[in-house]
Amino acid sequence: MVILPKLRCPSCGRAMGPVEVKEVPPANTYDECLRRCPRCGVGATNAKNPAKVKYIQSDRPRDIPPEKPGPATD
Ligand SMILES: [Zn+2]
Repeated sequence: MVILPKLRCPSCGRAMGPVEVKEVPPANTYDECLRRCPRCGVGATNAKNPAKVKYIQSDRPRDIPPEKPGPATD
């Protein structure tokens, strides 16, 4: 078992992890990151050493409901 230590989201400061996994897959995209902040769409790569962690910004829209267009007023 490998434990990826807890990190803080660089955007909002929330804790991400720790995560316990059997194997550590390489993370090249947000979706492959085991530690993620869904609120900010920020993923931390799967490096065990926090100094080597890189942060990946999701290219998906954040988990916020889209703004509805307001009623047309004239
Ligand atoms: Zn965050």
